[in-house]
Amino acid sequence: MKAVKKMKSNSWDVEKVRADFPVLSQTVNGKPLRYLDNAASSQVPQTVIDRGAKYLREEHSNIHRGVHYLSQHATTAYEAAREKVKRFINAREAKECIFVRGCTEGVNLVASSYGRKFVSEGDEIIVSQMEHHANIIPWQMLAEEKGAKLRVIPMNERGELIIEEYENLLNERTKIVTVSHVSNSLGTVNPIKEMIATAHKFGVPFFVDGAQSVPHFPVDVQDLDVDFFTFSGHKMFAPTGSGVVYGKREWLDKMPPYQTGGGMIRTVSFEKTTFAPIPEKFEAGTPAIAANIGLGAAIDYLNSIDFAAAARYEHELLEYATEKLSAIEGVRIVGTAKEKASVLSFTIENVHPHDIGTILDQSGIAIRAGHHCAQPVMQFFDVPATARASFAFYNTREEVDVLADAIQKVIEVFA
Ligand SMILES: *Cc1c(COP(=O)(O)O)cnc(C)c1O
Repeated sequence: MKAVKKMKSNSWDVEKVRADFPVLSQTVNGKPLRYLDNAASSQVPQTVIDRGAKYLREEHSNIHRGVHYLSQHATTAYEAAREKVKRFINAREAKECIFVRGCTEGVNLVASSYGRKFVSEGDEIIVSQMEHHANIIPWQMLAEEKGAKLRVIPMNERGELIIEEYENLLNERTKIVTVSHVSNSLGTVNPIKEMIATAHKFGVPFFVDGAQSVPHFPVDVQDLDVDFFTFSGHKMFAPTGSGVVYGKREWLDKMPPYQTGGGMIRTVSFEKTTFAPIPEKFEAGTPAIAANIGLGAAIDYLNSIDFAAAARYEHELLEYATEKLSAIEGVRIVGTAKEKASVLSFTIENVHPHDIGTILDQSGIAIRAGHHCAQPVMQFFDVPATARASFAFYNTREEVDVLADAIQKVIEVFA
């Protein structure tokens, strides 16, 4: 037996929590499922499944437009989910929380709408080197369209943003800064509160891609003083198709609609259309009603557990896994920032990450292999791809042990 550091937390009953997630008790290829792909999509607890089923069985109807019983019932449930989102991220008002399909749509909404109004030729947009493609391309397209320029905050060899360089990039031409709270390819937790304060000194609004932070620790948008914040439901124990973009009212009120159509207008004539106030202004057409009610149920679930204890447990699990994998000869950890969450990216000498993923799958272990929609990160570390294990609070030390053993076997096979 290898010597391993003892887990400090005993306040977290992981087996009890696992029982809430029916998918986890499956076998895959004759082996118990070891689900370590939470950064791509997390699993859904029974309470969220039940809430979605209840909606479909008893409440399914279009919202906001009907006077009949079912429509009013669905509207109430949908707006209750918005209230839950508001409390979950501590927004000032529920109206500042716009439902979108996910993080990708959240970025596109703000880049398109804020960009149309506030970005012009010669302006600058600051992104970071560790962004997911979803938080690069919409800004890049905007910059091309407007004749604006993308400036990039570089990172160091550990995968940490170089803050002095960031401060040098800010100037009177900067129109927005956009950075991920937690990197999906490296696990780095960025010091966004300080970065936001710096941007505000220049009067520049700050957008945060929170896809990888909200599932792993509590987030308070007022405390961060962030101007825009987006996340996906499916990475925080809710169904796909749910998600939120939060924006401060002072910005959202000034921004034009993103998509247009039904549900977002005040009056329409062929001469002129006037728009509804937020959030409806940004929610054209029939939204993902069932999915967003499911997101509300996922938030209820997080409120029913001790989320702070979950975060501590998960962090210790990440440290345990880091220690275990670092001890294996031939394994290189990619992303060694001091502040990390959930994600453990690695490579094995002379083995392509896709082969690692395929071999681990035979042992029932689900990890991800690829560029993780972050090709600039792969270019920086000079690797074509990495293998990535990513954790949630329902993962166990035993799963980490199985992962480490399977990696050892991969190395033996290819040796
Ligand atoms: C997953 C992810 C996205 C994209 O989210 P979708 O749910 O695919 O829209 C964006 N940024 C980060 C950091 C992510 O992890």
